Amino acid sequence: MFSRVLIANRGEIALRIIRACRELGIECVCVYSKADADAPYLRLADAAICIGPGPASESYLNIPRIIAAAEVANCDAIHPGYGFLAENAHFAEVCRDCKIEFIGPSPEAMSALGDKINCKRMAKKVGVPVFGGSEGAIDDEQKAVEIADKVGYPVIIKAAAGGGGRGMRVCHNEVALRASIRQASQEAQAAFGNGAVFIEKFLEKARHVEVQCLGDKHGNAIHLYERDCSTQRRHQKLIEEAPGPNIDPKRREALCASAAKLIKAANYSGAATVEFLMDDKQNFYMLEVNTRVQVEHPVTECITGVDIVRTGIRVAAGEELPYRQKDIAIRGHAIECRINAEDWERGFAPSAGKIDVWEPPGGPGVRLDTHVVPGYRVPTNYDSMIAKLIVYADTRAEAIRRTDRALKEFRVGPIKTTIGLQREMMNNSAFQKGGIDIHFLERLLKR
Ligand code: ADP
Repeated sequence: MFSRVLIANRGEIALRIIRACRELGIECVCVYSKADADAPYLRLADAAICIGPGPASESYLNIPRIIAAAEVANCDAIHPGYGFLAENAHFAEVCRDCKIEFIGPSPEAMSALGDKINCKRMAKKVGVPVFGGSEGAIDDEQKAVEIADKVGYPVIIKAAAGGGGRGMRVCHNEVALRASIRQASQEAQAAFGNGAVFIEKFLEKARHVEVQCLGDKHGNAIHLYERDCSTQRRHQKLIEEAPGPNIDPKRREALCASAAKLIKAANYSGAATVEFLMDDKQNFYMLEVNTRVQVEHPVTECITGVDIVRTGIRVAAGEELPYRQKDIAIRGHAIECRINAEDWERGFAPSAGKIDVWEPPGGPGVRLDTHVVPGYRVPTNYDSMIAKLIVYADTRAEAIRRTDRALKEFRVGPIKTTIGLQREMMNNSAFQKGGIDIHFLERLLKR
């Protein structure tokens, strides 16, 4: 096992990793930017090293500074968390060159799955369903039109290196497609340093269903069942739950088995999520693979009893997965609300500042993953998420009632948060029924 892990991240996920390290008896070192100098979780680490000013490019994204910190602090591994450098294969490679274990997949597995075109190709090869569309990158207008004619409009143009909902364009007809293809490629080049784009069938009414997987360095791979993350705004998830509501057990088995098959084929070690869209007949199509721990991992931890962060560290240290597929079963239902510092009633405007009122909920089945304490000042440099409320109960109906109860207890001020919106969702009859599509929330907000 590692003796000292450097945490190359901030906020709630840094704290989540500190907790996992403590439980494994590993020392941990946090890096932080000047904007996070007063963050209370830093006191829980064995050491904390300032790596630069607030802007992420000068701190949490700065590879030389992070590696230097790891070397100075004598760390034998780096945990990247999510976001920042977590899906940067170059960073994983630099870690390897410096003989520091990157807690995550090999740079090879990360690159293979991180490129959406390549990932789709691999999925197709092992029999995982994907949307019809171009076989590889496409730069020719005429060819794009031919493919769109074959799969039928609407189609979506996507960047091979895209992420965070950026670099996508939906085209409803040939005129739009012709007008968009070159521009999409130029934009992808500017945004991601890779101009490769591809097209695929666009599914109008879909659910976002994703499968949590774990692999080790001995060729084992398992799945931990699925999450439904259809409650989104601008491709940003606001509520996630596990298992997916109203999913036919046979479809579930097929979905989850295909995700595990892809992870195994990629020789993947660590935590990964295979994302799918599901249509109203519960056909599923793979979108992409996220090669890291995800924000919403706790709902899966609740229903399976597997500590995903701890297991990720153990397999990075070379241990075999402590579970076989047959050991994994779903028990109960879990819901996560991402509490963001945003004024959802005014266009989700950021609401940074000092948190004077902080009265978090508690009681049975309530878990709160947060780095916030009373008096905490939300920095403006980073993501607006300040807490994740995770609620667990025997059934989905009970989980919804319990989430509503916990949200009602949760008092935060004077900054604005998304709590009110999440309460509305818990009391929404379509949400309660289960199986809403990814545009449901945006339609609701327009009313
Ligand atoms: P990113 O890496 O930017 O998150 P994804 O490929 O995961 O990109 O897609 C993000 C979102 O875009 C999906 O959750 C879905 O809402 C929409 N989307 C992507 N591909 C399709 C498609 N073929 N049909 C319908 N919606 C899509």
